[in-house]
Amino acid sequence: MNSLNADIVVIGGGISGTLAAVAAARTGQQVLLAERYGFLGGMLTAGGVGPMMTFHAGDRQVVRGLNGELIERLQRHHASPGHLVDTTGYTFSVTPFDAEAMKLELDRMCREAAVRVLFHSQLTGCVMEDGVVTAVRLQSGVHQLEVRARVFVDATGNADLAVLAGAPTVKGRPEDGRCQPMTMNLKVYNVDIPAVRAYIHAHPEEFPRLKGDTSIIDRAPRLSIGGFVETLRQAREAGEITFPREDVLFFETANPGEVIVNTSRIVDLDPTDPFALSQAEMAGREQVDQLMAFLRKRVAGFSAARLAFSGPQVGIRSSRQLRGAYVLRAEDVLGAIKFPDAVACNAYPIDIHSPTGNPAESRHGHLHPGEYYTIPYRSLYAPEVKNLLVTGRAISGEFAAQAAFRTTPCAGALGHAAGAAAALAAKRDGNVTTLPYPELRNLLLQQAAFLPDQV
Ligand SMILES: Cc1cc2nc3c(=O)[nH]c(=O)nc-3n(C[C@H](O)[C@H](O)[C@H](O)COP(=O)(O)OP(=O)(O)OC[C@H]3O[C@@H](n4cnc5c(N)ncnc54)[C@H](O)[C@@H]3O)c2cc1C
Repeated sequence: MNSLNADIVVIGGGISGTLAAVAAARTGQQVLLAERYGFLGGMLTAGGVGPMMTFHAGDRQVVRGLNGELIERLQRHHASPGHLVDTTGYTFSVTPFDAEAMKLELDRMCREAAVRVLFHSQLTGCVMEDGVVTAVRLQSGVHQLEVRARVFVDATGNADLAVLAGAPTVKGRPEDGRCQPMTMNLKVYNVDIPAVRAYIHAHPEEFPRLKGDTSIIDRAPRLSIGGFVETLRQAREAGEITFPREDVLFFETANPGEVIVNTSRIVDLDPTDPFALSQAEMAGREQVDQLMAFLRKRVAGFSAARLAFSGPQVGIRSSRQLRGAYVLRAEDVLGAIKFPDAVACNAYPIDIHSPTGNPAESRHGHLHPGEYYTIPYRSLYAPEVKNLLVTGRAISGEFAAQAAFRTTPCAGALGHAAGAAAALAAKRDGNVTTLPYPELRNLLLQQAAFLPDQV
């Protein structure tokens, strides 16, 4: 087995892991970022997810820092129109982007910061000594690599490294362990957007979230749509759509006539079980097939639509959560709590897609416009493993709280925070659990993160 050394190892190159690696490397630390695919971006590029939702609390942008910088860079390349009003009426802003440009820009941010990126590398194990992680094992084809470091960041989304290191984790909702459904997003092009807009204005009853006022769709150059409820009901009655779903959800990307359809729903399968996950991939493709036929036959603007792709992997909304030093609660989210050790801010609502498919089990919890909650640093580590940070959607939080912080602006802000913390800890004794918060706060503010005034 080959071996090498770094100051910090980040596992997982989704939005959280990539921004963690960049934040740490910009302080001069040697950072290795390992990713199992051949590109960065995680769900945003491998799962066909978009738009990024949401950077805002009302009119105020509460996610900035490296995530904000990423969007500005994409805008300079005309690969994102920036932050637009959310025309579903669900949240404040949405940020469409071109996924190929996103891959490239994340590469560039890593290269400029001198992050050592190792693609096609899967985490397979870790070495523990006296309760700390001393190395991780990576596998790429038949090549095995052991990387030693002082601090490790788990950005796998599934808390894979935390599990291997023996940190406590939980999975699913407390009553039955069920996770949110998986979804096979599909990217579709050749959609006649003016026809979609005309249909919405003519049939407001099909779009209950808009409460009869469809004028919001004229306020954004790119549409976000949740509706077509009667059209979908008819298709389900006719047996054309066989999975449980109440509305059609789709979003225009940065590219004209291209939309992301976030409507498939794969319930009752455990995303951390490889056999269940394989079943989900196949079920997802069947659902994509049904959706394409349905869209072309029944949905205004889609008659000539073509399927671009369904992504290298099915989308996972929730799986394992770290049981960290603090478990973020749903009431912290809804109470817009400002923690004294806040490292990220967010205003996306609690958004639980029904884990069983029964519509009554979908849940939503919105904040008042302008309000936002914070994530405490203590939710990024467990006292049991002193040199490990978990970031992104797998940090420590209740099932319902995770349903709020899981989306990409916040996952990126958490990554930024984890990278800054890892850098500071690596310069000290490697212990992430004893890091003085004021140092972390100062570094995050220097790196243009948004944080509330100190309480
Ligand atoms: C269907 C669906 C729709 C969504 N819609 C939206 C939306 O519209 N807007 C929004 O903002 N958010 C949305 N989300 C949420 C969002 O996509 C994710 O929660 C977010 O991407 C989490 O970021 P992350 O960096 O924590 O994890 P991920 O994006 O999952 O990244 C994890 C990375 O780690 C890598 N990895 C995992 N395990 C290993 C391993 N063992 N070894 C090496 N590499 C590994 C993966 O390949 C991946 O690149 C959606 C999610 C889903 C599933």
